[in-house]
Amino acid sequence: MRDPDPDCLFCRIVAGEIPSDRVYEDDEVICFRDINPQAPTHVLAIPRRHIPDARGLSNGDGPLLERLFGVLRDIADAEGLDGGYRMVTNVGPDAGQTVFHLHFHLLGGRSMRWPPG
Ligand code: 5GP
Ligand code: ZN
Repeated sequence: MRDPDPDCLFCRIVAGEIPSDRVYEDDEVICFRDINPQAPTHVLAIPRRHIPDARGLSNGDGPLLERLFGVLRDIADAEGLDGGYRMVTNVGPDAGQTVFHLHFHLLGGRSMRWPPG
């Protein structure tokens, strides 16, 4: 589904119906701080368009992904994450996805373990 979903939390954040601490926005993408941060820097990057998860991406979304990854790189630079950081997207309940609007987590500012839980 690609239209705004009135029941989708992140569509409501895109629409400004729910406030968020935005760190970046343009015509395709918005980025805001996670309400329950798991690291000193925890930013979510989302397309404005409602895509439930990464399985909903198609070949035509290449430019969108380029935008999302480039914006996350710039935010990581601005946050001084010179030692590295993690970018992750959860796909479906088994992966821990709780909001079904595609988003990439940017986590940094502490050392990370692998594998994730
Ligand atoms: P998921 O578990 O789906 O990969 O990630 C969803 C993320 O959204 C979680 O890290 C959660 O803390 C965050 N989140 C949930 N509700 C809100 C909200 O209302 N505002 C913000 N900024 N983040 C939220
Ligand atoms: Zn949505």
